[in-house]
Amino acid sequence: LEQFRGKHVLILGLAKSGEAAAKLLHKYGAIITVNDAKPYAENEQAKNLEGMGMRVVCGHHPVELLDRSFDYLVKNPGIPYTNPIVQEATNRGLPVITEVEISSLISDAEIIAITGSNGKTTTTTLVYEMLKNSLKTPHLAGNIGTVSCEVAEQLTEQDIMVLEVSSFQLLGTVEFKPKVSVLLNLFDAHLDYHGTKDEYIKAKSKITVNQDGNDYFVFNADDYEVAKVAQSSQATLVPFSTKKECDGLYIKDQMIYFKNDKLISLEEVVLPGAHNVENILAAIGASILLGANQEQIKHVLKTFTGVEHRLQFVEEFEGRRFYNDSKATNILATKKALEAFKQPIVLLAGGLDRGNEFTELKDALMNVHVLVAFGETKDKLAEAARDAGVQSIVFAEFMEDAVSLAFEQSNRGDVILLSPACASWDQYKTFEERGNRFVDAVRNVICK
Ligand code: ADP
Repeated sequence: LEQFRGKHVLILGLAKSGEAAAKLLHKYGAIITVNDAKPYAENEQAKNLEGMGMRVVCGHHPVELLDRSFDYLVKNPGIPYTNPIVQEATNRGLPVITEVEISSLISDAEIIAITGSNGKTTTTTLVYEMLKNSLKTPHLAGNIGTVSCEVAEQLTEQDIMVLEVSSFQLLGTVEFKPKVSVLLNLFDAHLDYHGTKDEYIKAKSKITVNQDGNDYFVFNADDYEVAKVAQSSQATLVPFSTKKECDGLYIKDQMIYFKNDKLISLEEVVLPGAHNVENILAAIGASILLGANQEQIKHVLKTFTGVEHRLQFVEEFEGRRFYNDSKATNILATKKALEAFKQPIVLLAGGLDRGNEFTELKDALMNVHVLVAFGETKDKLAEAARDAGVQSIVFAEFMEDAVSLAFEQSNRGDVILLSPACASWDQYKTFEERGNRFVDAVRNVICK
């Protein structure tokens, strides 16, 4: 980080990542100004940094701040590029970077970076689990776990940083060069932030743009846009596909293959869902490249029941299997969840009304025989369920009632699934809180 010594750095937006970057660069001799939207009076974080000798400007993001010429702007990923101060900084040619860039400059550990529109957290967790018991020690960082530059500072060559990165973070990278990069898929996402799909893809492709032949790019060969990114990558390519044989990871006769080696049968894999097969292939590829042993990989596949709130297996009770998919805050995610099961499903769904209808769920609802609806969207969901021929539709106010009703209406062999297709904010602070209420109700009311 010598390049920052004596340099003037503006940290825009604090949160966890801004604070970590400010402290780290301060330690390496940079002259820091912190600018955060939260007013000074209630901004304990800013006061704390001020006490360490940094200049703080709170309450808004004044463009005039840039008149005190800076060498770098470290931007919180949440602040859009359309913010006037960011636009002006770009106009003046100031490098606008994110905390992930700093962590890659300081890290002595190899970095494996994982991105995609969906499946990041699941894949990152799988890689981390698969790398346990190998020669080097894996550490989770980024959106999942601890802020990356805080992690990076502690690591040595004996460590591996397993980093989940978003397109927002990737946009602010310059020299970011992971040893292994993973690109899972590219859907239309965050267009409000990136403007166009091309801009979004450009941001995501920064995960491989600095890689060379000694690095690896693990990519989804079934996704047209992802495959296009791979074509322009200089890294050693490692494709994965659930549809065809390829020179990487693929499925043949219900077996997972890496190159020509059979690894494990899909029947032995406990994580449900076709989408998770993609995440699994990506995770195996990435972890093998970094020295994971096959026994550990198999162990993970036979025991890993999912990340909390993402099709997470909760309990089996009287022949019913309960799953928590509270993270499914949109229709697409709930569709994936419903498609993951062959068993009849009792679905618990509903939440914040964003004004959309649920007609797209119709086909996926074929396997559902009971809908327990709640929240602002309960009537709309009931209508979609009626159209799809769902036999029983009931309403509940609180999660505990919803779980009890679901159990009462279920049969042996059913899956009882919370996959709301809506955000949680009409009734809960976060999707995690909603998922925890579900898990608690299953464990304390049903399985007690
Ligand atoms: P992210 O961290 O990218 O939000 P998660 O691993 O948390 O992804 O998964 C969130 C939701 O995205 C899951 O509940 C599932 O519905 C969907 N999903 C996960 N993996 C994939 C995939 N490979 N393709 C499509 N959808 C996926």
